Amino acid sequence: MIEPRRSSWWEADALPPRPQPCDLPTRADVLIVGAGFMGRWLAYHLGSVARRMRVVVVERDRFAYGASSRNAGFLTCGQVSEMLADVRSDGMEAVVQTFEQRLRGIELVRDEFPGLEIDASGSTDWDPLTEPKRELARALNEVAGTEIYSVRRARMGERERDAMFNAADGALDPVAVLRCLEARTDARMAFGVRATRVSAGLARVETSDGPREIGYDRAFLCTNAFTADLCPDSKVVPGRGQIVVTSPVRTSTDRTLGYLQEGYNYFRFVGDRLLIGGGRHIYADRENGTTDLTPTPNVRSYLTGVAACVLGHSDFEVEHHWAGVMGFRGGRHLGGSPRRRVDASTEVVAGFGGMGVALTPVVAREIAEEFA
Ligand SMILES: Cc1cc2nc3c(=O)[nH]c(=O)nc-3n(C[C@H](O)[C@H](O)[C@H](O)COP(=O)(O)OP(=O)(O)OC[C@H]3O[C@@H](n4cnc5c(N)ncnc54)[C@H](O)[C@@H]3O)c2cc1C
Repeated sequence: MIEPRRSSWWEADALPPRPQPCDLPTRADVLIVGAGFMGRWLAYHLGSVARRMRVVVVERDRFAYGASSRNAGFLTCGQVSEMLADVRSDGMEAVVQTFEQRLRGIELVRDEFPGLEIDASGSTDWDPLTEPKRELARALNEVAGTEIYSVRRARMGERERDAMFNAADGALDPVAVLRCLEARTDARMAFGVRATRVSAGLARVETSDGPREIGYDRAFLCTNAFTADLCPDSKVVPGRGQIVVTSPVRTSTDRTLGYLQEGYNYFRFVGDRLLIGGGRHIYADRENGTTDLTPTPNVRSYLTGVAACVLGHSDFEVEHHWAGVMGFRGGRHLGGSPRRRVDASTEVVAGFGGMGVALTPVVAREIAEEFA
């Protein structure tokens, strides 16, 4: 039996109807597989640098079904607790490089879509403040040339304390971004079309009318967690993330974006509800390595407990719960490139982990500029 498609909060009223059989071109200058953030940003930027190119995007879902329409919508350059852990594992240079890229990504999203609603409330890192975190914050402010990080009094439930605040972060509706990108590209977007083999200038795809072939000059596999289906040695490893949204709540907790436990848990408010995600570190054995988009009761109950701590009470219901899948580059968490050559005309661009909202527009623009 085929698993039913499960909608996220952002998709609830917004999904397009089931795709109709489509006339697919038999040739593309650029073929993009996957219509998540990466595929759509790439189609969008290619449209502005190389207008006459025939760009075709194939997406197996009716919209996008991996991470981009199912995430938390944090447009973020990072919080110090996670970044300090990253300094220890990947080194300061990789952390600064990613921080700068994410800052560029925030700017790019704002510049390209000035009408897009972004909640510029900033973010609060709720983990204990330590001297190494303060030092890292000072160093990152110096890199940015402005005071992004500062220590502020912050309130969670009835408790108040000092916490590290990030003034650059904002929150958006990821589906609104995906829609803006689709509306502003001339690329041929074909939904309900699954690529089964993409190599050496020829793609085989499955459509509701049966199999088709598309010849291409260049192809980009923007298939994230599912990349191994097309390219087994891509080294992109899947990992599931789950999110719940509560019933309307009352609380004194600050309405900034919030990070807990080195960013493994995170929350924001959507209207008068709390959206909270995480738990991957607690249920690592089940959440890592899977592309199954079925949410699980253990993570739901864990997130319900974390939500009660954030709100300072348990007077709420969980009304929405869904899962998305990320792609992680095997090996180092940061640094290096998400691009990997498969052959002379085919490339993987995947593995943004939990940072794709800000990183994908930057990487897409870099690739598009090579076509200018
Ligand atoms: C729960 C959760 C919360 C997150 N929160 C945040 C956040 O707040 N901020 C942030 O920056 N990042 C966040 N992320 C990460 C972010 O969502 C991803 O980094 C980003 O969406 C990756 O975009 P993508 O286009 O590479 O992948 P995806 O969005 O996964 O797109 C891949 C697409 O490829 C399609 N596809 C796969 N195989 C095929 C095939 N064979 N043929 C055709 N189509 C195919 C899939 O259907 C899918 O639509 C979160 C992720 C999750 C799961």
